[in-house]
Amino acid sequence: MAEIPVYVCSHIFENTRPILLVCKENEEWQFLCGGEHEREEIPRVVGLNHMLERDNTLSEIMGLENDSEAERQEVGGTWLISKL
Ligand SMILES: [Zn+2]
Repeated sequence: MAEIPVYVCSHIFENTRPILLVCKENEEWQFLCGGEHEREEIPRVVGLNHMLERDNTLSEIMGLENDSEAERQEVGGTWLISKL
């Protein structure tokens, strides 16, 4: 499988918080902690398969439609999906 790029916040990049918010916009994935960030934070890019290895519950929302977001309260929790 080809490497699919994912934009992540610094917390996900450094693995200090779990992924609780996933956005798919313009066919681009963002995996975020759902928390606050510095305004000038620079998004980082990682490979989707590395994120799935870290947290296989992300596979539940791999069919997310474009221009949608999925949010959950905790790892293993129910995803709430909404349109962007
Ligand atoms: Zn974050």
